[in-house]
Parts: sequence; structure tokens; C-alpha cells
Amino acid sequence: MKGSTHLAIGCAIGAAAAGYHSFELTDSVFYITSAAVSSLVPDLDGPSMLSSRISKVSKALYRSMITLAVLLSLLVAFLYLKYHLVRVELFVAALFSLFPALIVKEGFIRNALVSLIGIGLSCAGFTWGMLWVSGFGLFIAIAPWLKHRGLTHTVWALWIWYLLSRGMEMQLGVEGLALTAGAGYASHLLADTLTASGVKWLYPLTKFTFKLPFR
Ligand SMILES: [Zn+2]
Repeated sequence: MKGSTHLAIGCAIGAAAAGYHSFELTDSVFYITSAAVSSLVPDLDGPSMLSSRISKVSKALYRSMITLAVLLSLLVAFLYLKYHLVRVELFVAALFSLFPALIVKEGFIRNALVSLIGIGLSCAGFTWGMLWVSGFGLFIAIAPWLKHRGLTHTVWALWIWYLLSRGMEMQLGVEGLALTAGAGYASHLLADTLTASGVKWLYPLTKFTFKLPFR
């Protein structure tokens, strides 16, 4: 199933949760963002989350963003190793400039970049004493290396994602955020179950593929 379809479903779930729980703008942003991100995350194991076709302009933009990310990462590492300085804002900027990596085609570099974002998040989580951030980071760091529609497309991954989201909900104090994120993640697995290749919900316990019987 296409990333844009998953994203649309995720946004709808987030909007519904926002409508149900609160009409405050910041809360709505949390609901919609968490459901939207959660609806895309299972396909971190796939070739590309949104589209593998990048136009010339975005290619140039992509290259400069990655260059910026590498330079910032080097600077962060240098400041830390040389002066034991931790510049959080530089670190966050480096992480964000790595995000275009998410839309790049399958390949070692793409996986490595996504993992780098995850490892960065993990370290940030430890520094801030937010274990759920570290957990999300670890999830993102590992996912790209897994087989497509493997472990990320299981009830276990859904459960882990939900538990991590509980940490986020408690930290942010936004009621129902974990369920919203969980619903976003679950919507991805359900939507994939409707496709011809189906989903191995209980892998590796059983390799049984759940899909619509009439396919
Ligand atoms: Zn999928």
C-alpha cells in the first residue's frame, strides 16, 4: 500500500482523536502528528516511505540537507570530544536535516541515515532523561534493517509502539495520545492486510499471512 494512503488514514485518525478529546490547537497538533507519523513508521523497513521519485530540485535540496547534516554532526561530535560541550540545538538541527533521507530509495546509505536519526534520538532521550524518546530512537534505528513487512508489521511492534507512546502521553500530559498513536500504527497494519501480499501479524511465532480470503 502506498505511503500517501497510509498517511491519509493516519491524519484522519489524528483529526478524529483531536475532535474527540480537545479543541485546543497544540493538542490537536500532537494528536494529528502522532497518528500520522505512527501510520508511516511500519514502512521504515521498506524501500521508501512516500515516493522514490525525487525531482531535480529536491535532489539538490536533498544533497545540501545531507551535507548540512553531516557537517553539523561532525561539529557536534567535535565540540563534545574536544570540549565536552553538548549543544542540543545543533544536535536537533542535525537530526532534522537528516529527514530527507526518509524519502530516498532503498539502499545502504538510506538505511544508515535513518539509523543515524534513530541513534541521535536515542542519545538525546538519554541526555534528557526521557526513556520513551530513547525507545522511539532505538525503534527507528533498527527498523530499516528488517525484512520488508517483517517484524515492524506485527502485534509485537504495535505493542512496543503503544508502550513508548504511553511514555510520550505521560510526559506531554495529552490524554489519549498513546491510543491515538497506537491506532495510527494499527491502521497501517490493517490497511496492508487488505493488500494481496497481506501481513504476518504474529511473525516470528507463525509465518501465517493474514489477508483478505478473496484475493
Ligand atoms: Zn507496510
